[in-house]
Order: sequence, then structure tokens, then C-alpha cells
Amino acid sequence: MDILNETIRFGTVGSPQTTPTSGTAAAIAHIRELGLNHLEIAWVQSVRVSDDTCGQIQAAASGYGVTLSIHAPYYINLNSQTTELMQKSDERLLAAARKGCLAGAKDIIFHPGSYHSQPPEQVYERAKEKLLEITGILREEGVNVTLRPETMGKSAMFGNLDEVLQLSRDVPGVAPCIDWAHLHARRGDGTFNSYDEFAAALEQVKDVLGEAGLKNLHFHLSGIAYTAKGEKEHLPLNEADLRYRELLQAFVDYGVEATCAVEAPEPFHTSDALTIQATYRRLVMLKEGVPLKQDAD
Ligand SMILES: [Zn+2]
Repeated sequence: MDILNETIRFGTVGSPQTTPTSGTAAAIAHIRELGLNHLEIAWVQSVRVSDDTCGQIQAAASGYGVTLSIHAPYYINLNSQTTELMQKSDERLLAAARKGCLAGAKDIIFHPGSYHSQPPEQVYERAKEKLLEITGILREEGVNVTLRPETMGKSAMFGNLDEVLQLSRDVPGVAPCIDWAHLHARRGDGTFNSYDEFAAALEQVKDVLGEAGLKNLHFHLSGIAYTAKGEKEHLPLNEADLRYRELLQAFVDYGVEATCAVEAPEPFHTSDALTIQATYRRLVMLKEGVPLKQDAD
């Protein structure tokens, strides 16, 4: 296997805690030092970054060969209930996309919103219309990014796998962010945690988006704590029940191409990203029949 041509690029959400100085450009250099090759920039409270800083981030990313995604602010809701709230939500998503593009990011990740107890089909139509409008604005401005609604970890939140895949099919410029821990937690009963269930989800991606859909994915991956109502909090892998090795095996078997951002409480987001990356590489080598180091003479 050619490690430089890896089909899944792994990194952290937010700067690795071992980054020696502050700032996103330093975090990008440190991602490269660690041997990771992706960073998800966490603009989760607000987008407050100058065009100058975006230029520095973009230069660091292309210099170090690190790909970037942006986690847009949490307070985005495609189903906002008043005109004023909707306008603020739109502004946050547009700002994350515009600044993210300037910073060299290709993918803008966001939480799509809440059902507010309304019928899911009705919320879906509203979200679709909203995304058609926002992607239209960005296209007109020449802001070339992919908007990626994330699969959410609570059943009260809009954004199950069906909905995220349908939006990706119905709206040009939209593609999925599959948060695997959220899909596991959303069920609340411990299911969605086996090779067969992971493989079925990838089959579903292929059914809705075609083979090309499997080559254009973004993931969030981490351990997670949950109740019957869904997500409670992210956990380090070694405290969680997520069968990530089986998930990675499914990625290998389906020839998935993706970027994968790992979120876990510090300091585990960095070590878990490295563990997940190393496990993935090992599974690729086993599949290709490349002898592992200790076996080779
Ligand atoms: Zn998220």
C-alpha cells in the first residue's frame, strides 16, 4: 500500500492538544508532524476570523499537504421557527462557507436542525428548499465548497441517515457527513454497532448516491455514551462500546474514499485519531496480503 495515496485521510476535530503554539496554522503543521493528514477546524461558537488569517491557514494547509474541513457553528437550524432566527442561521452557515473557502477548506460540516415535533417529511422539504437557496447563493459568489449536513445523535434532531443521503441526492453541492457514533447512539438501544449494520449503511449510500457517493464521504468517528434518548457525550474509544475495527473493515471492503475527523475529549482526540488511522492501515495491508512488519524476513 502506498501510504501517501491513502483513500481515507484521518485527523482531529480542533487542534491537537500537543500543538506547541496557538493558531490554526500551527495546528496544521503539528497534524503533519503527528503523521495525520486532515484537520477539522472547529468554528463551533461563531465564525470570527480575518481574511488574513484565512490566507495563512490556506498557505499552511497546501504547504503541508493537509486537507481541511470546517465545523460550522452549532446554532444552525434549517428549520428555524422565526424569520429572525432563520436569518441568523443562514448567516452563520454562509459565513462558515465563505471563510472556510478562503481558508482552503473543501467541506463545511453543520448540524441540520430540529424537527420541533413537526412531521419529518415537512421538515425535510423545508430543509431542502433552504439548502437549494444557500447553495445557490454560494455558487453565484464563486464559493466552491461542499455543504455537509451531519447525521445527528438524538431522535429529536433532524438528520438521520436517510435524510442526510436524500438531501445529498436532491441538492447539488450537498454531500453527507456521516457521524458513525451518532448513528449508533441515535438508536439508543446499542444496535447499529456491527459489521453487517455498517455494511448495510454503506450499501444505502451506494443505492442513493451511486458508486461515486462512496468515494466522496466525510466522517466523524469517536466513542460515545448514550441513553434510550440518544447521544449523551463523546468518549475515548477505550471507554466506549463502538466496534470501530468492524466499521473500518467495512470501509476497506467497500473501497470508501473519505476524510475522517475524530472527536473525543482531550487528550484522547489525538491518540484516538492515531489509533483509528493505524488500525485502518493495518486492515488495508491485511486485505492486500502485504506482510506485516514483524512477519517479514
Ligand atoms: Zn458535529
